[in-house]
Amino acid sequence: MSQPSVAIVGAGPAGLMAADVLSQQGYAVQVFEQMPSAARKFLMAGKTGLNISHIEQIEAFIQRYDATTWVGPWVEKYDASWIRAWMQTLGIASYVGSSGRIFPVEMKAAPLLRAWLTRLQQQGVQFYYRHRCIDLIGQSLTLQNTRDAEVKKQSFDAVILACGAVSWQKLGSDGRWLAWMASDEVNPFQPSNAGVVRTWSEYMQPIFGQPLKGIRAWVETEENAVTGDIILTQYGFESGVIYRLNRALRVQGITSKKYVLNVDLLPQISYEQLVLRLIQYRKQSLNNRLRKTGLDAVKSALLKEIVDRGQWSNAEIMALHIKKLSIDLNGFRPIDEAISCAGGIKQTALSTELQLKSQPHVFCCGEMLDWDAPTGGYLLTACLASGRVAGHGVDRFLSQKSES
Ligand SMILES: Cc1cc2nc3c(=O)[nH]c(=O)nc-3n(C[C@H](O)[C@H](O)[C@H](O)COP(=O)(O)OP(=O)(O)OC[C@H]3O[C@@H](n4cnc5c(N)ncnc54)[C@H](O)[C@@H]3O)c2cc1C
Repeated sequence: MSQPSVAIVGAGPAGLMAADVLSQQGYAVQVFEQMPSAARKFLMAGKTGLNISHIEQIEAFIQRYDATTWVGPWVEKYDASWIRAWMQTLGIASYVGSSGRIFPVEMKAAPLLRAWLTRLQQQGVQFYYRHRCIDLIGQSLTLQNTRDAEVKKQSFDAVILACGAVSWQKLGSDGRWLAWMASDEVNPFQPSNAGVVRTWSEYMQPIFGQPLKGIRAWVETEENAVTGDIILTQYGFESGVIYRLNRALRVQGITSKKYVLNVDLLPQISYEQLVLRLIQYRKQSLNNRLRKTGLDAVKSALLKEIVDRGQWSNAEIMALHIKKLSIDLNGFRPIDEAISCAGGIKQTALSTELQLKSQPHVFCCGEMLDWDAPTGGYLLTACLASGRVAGHGVDRFLSQKSES
């Protein structure tokens, strides 16, 4: 008797992980990928070092996600050590960086992807590149060969959607699948791990691309404060610190219709010490006063950009601004530039095994689901883990069907 057939739409990390699970169980797995090759975003993620997970304790790790109770069980089961052991089975050694982030020793994603695709092929997975799924009705996919535009319909015992979200569309995740979902099954996508926008005066031009070093930043409440560097760019700000605060900024945008980033420019120096220093150097030029107080050229320029000129000579007020510089932002960079997306298929639309309640033959995984996390390896961990959950879900679904 032939094995049940499973179609996986999307050869990103989530889809490949689902293919790994199912091909090991002996299913006839076909992967349809609209790009000419697999996992282009994964390769892009590895361009400057593939941060695949994080060594953090699992309790803290889970708290990085917005949907903690949903994502928690997946990443607890397929956690950082599981991922490292899995990489090892592909012959890829990993190491823990100084910040606790996990990387392949070779840093790039390409060797890992090559080994993974080879193993999947050995396990019998069939790959169809340049095959775009243009419609999904029940178990039937409408597939278009993007080379010759030929369209065919094909039915499967189960389908896994692993189509990604909507950022970096040139790498394949274009959100076409949104048309196959009911509107109440999906929360709108929003940029996450994205730069933020602020219009600068011409005086800021010389410092574009330079970091605000060792600052502390927060949104609304210091409970979400993050310490690190922020890059000042032509369009606003960028950096891991900004990404960490994206969620709080999004919430603030929705509730207050504004985006305000608070920055302590000199977290190691108290307000009282700052006042003393500013008074001590009061006879000097403003630039010298700020420099001797501890502000470098980038921090000084930002302070002068934000604070009204009439306040520059008041030591107490300037010290207050240095400890809490409130910067109005205009919003986020366009979603296509974002590293990831918040929003997607709602938890309520899916079973715990990631089966669509409205279409029981269809399972979903990866970034197309409505969870969000900062960079640091949390995104890939949840994509890989959800791919396994969906793969096991399909296995259980098809096993139960064959028994009944
Ligand atoms: C610049 C950058 C750097 C990143 N760095 C990191 C990092 O260091 N660590 C980290 O954890 N995460 C990182 N990420 C995020 C991570 O790469 C993504 O979260 C992850 O790739 C999402 O995996 P996925 O399988 O869900 O979707 P994707 O990787 O987007 O894959 C989806 C696949 O589905 C295909 N597809 C979509 N629709 C169709 C269709 N209709 N028919 C056929 N095929 C279709 C797409 O072509 C694509 O190949 C980074 C992202 C970017 C953009």
